[in-house]
Amino acid sequence: MSTLSPPTRAAVVIIGGGMAGLSCAASLARRGITDVVLLESKTLAHARGSSFGETRMFREMYSDPVLCRLAREANRLWREEEVHAGGGLRETHGLLFYGESWDEETIEGSIPGARRVMDDQGIPYEALSAKEIADRFPLKPKPDFTGLFEPTAGAVRSDKVVEHWIRTARSAGHQLIEHCPVIEVDAVGGSVTLNDGHRIHAGQVVVACGIWSRQLLAPLNLAPKLEIWPMLWAHYSVDPSLADRYPQWFCFQKERGDDGGLYYGFPVLSHAADGRPRIKAGIDWTPPELRVSEPEEMTEAPPTRLVELLDAFLFESLEGVQERIETVISPYAMTRDVNFVLDRLSPKLSLFTGGSGQAFKFAPLIGDSLARLASNASPSVDLSCWSHQRTAVCS
Ligand SMILES: Cc1cc2nc3c(=O)[nH]c(=O)nc-3n(C[C@H](O)[C@H](O)[C@H](O)COP(=O)(O)OP(=O)(O)OC[C@H]3O[C@@H](n4cnc5c(N)ncnc54)[C@H](O)[C@@H]3O)c2cc1C
Repeated sequence: MSTLSPPTRAAVVIIGGGMAGLSCAASLARRGITDVVLLESKTLAHARGSSFGETRMFREMYSDPVLCRLAREANRLWREEEVHAGGGLRETHGLLFYGESWDEETIEGSIPGARRVMDDQGIPYEALSAKEIADRFPLKPKPDFTGLFEPTAGAVRSDKVVEHWIRTARSAGHQLIEHCPVIEVDAVGGSVTLNDGHRIHAGQVVVACGIWSRQLLAPLNLAPKLEIWPMLWAHYSVDPSLADRYPQWFCFQKERGDDGGLYYGFPVLSHAADGRPRIKAGIDWTPPELRVSEPEEMTEAPPTRLVELLDAFLFESLEGVQERIETVISPYAMTRDVNFVLDRLSPKLSLFTGGSGQAFKFAPLIGDSLARLASNASPSVDLSCWSHQRTAVCS
């Protein structure tokens, strides 16, 4: 248990201290709601959850026109968030989608799909050939690869954002209590019970438990259908002479054998302990045999085959990559349609989960929407695409 003692009553109880819970707490603070308690079973944005790490991509380059519009709204809210924080939350350096162009959507969309939606919604981009990509960046695209560069995309400094939300919530008097697992929720009465039996009566409860949401909601018959994907990412040291030339990139290739074909990487945004410039890169796919339904079943050790695939891609497809220096597994909470769940489940209970590999860029919109639900206000946008009632989600 944390040194803070949980109260017996609160206007809003938030369960989960990752991206969704913390952005909700910060949004409630800005709406002037101060009687808020956030309960986190481990530590805020810890390494076993989905919000751990220093960077996340943001973009409007979506194949789904609805997500594209929602990403634009999230970007508007990020700009406000940056004013509150005094800057430092994001880096705008563009994003290169490149690779094979075929008419089928992957979990991150597709090159032709994103191009259609950006044309329809007037989002600026550059179309690049394989030669133009190779001339401009230290990448080695195959001759048939094509690319789209969205100049207004970039990286969210997720670790700095987490610190900013914690400061915002604490300054408003919110209690953020770590090492405090919730074991039961009463969706009708609006109370939560902690693992030591302590009960908190809440005006509103927000469940923001990521891959653990099913465990809390199953006894209420409200568990969303979710799969847990262990996702591999790593830091690689790079040649200092190329350090300022790496783009933020996402590479689309068809699945071949045990290679899912989807890889991504960031520019140099930090350095290794010994001062060498490093890039973060990851695989945006995991084989079906590693996908599980319960958090305890997820592998903690980086699977050898995925590490081999990521190494092979990085050393073969980028120039100047030197050495893998940190290797991490983090979970995606995946719905069948790879879209989120953000909804009111009862008059006193709201939920966010299913963030997959995409939700961080929507964080201010997710926080604002959860805060509005918890203060009985209407969401600012149509959230029906994130409904708990859709067939991909309800059990
Ligand atoms: C490797 C990786 C790369 C990603 N890349 C991007 C990207 O480039 N762009 C992008 O937009 N998004 C990206 N995402 C997605 C985004 O980071 C996640 O969707 C988001 O962080 C999920 O946040 P969350 O709050 O739902 O879950 P989490 O961060 O997992 O938080 C849930 C919290 O709830 C707590 N909890 C669970 N059960 C209980 C309980 N009973 N009582 C109390 N606390 C509890 C957990 O301990 C945890 O801290 C990526 C995700 C991963 C894993």
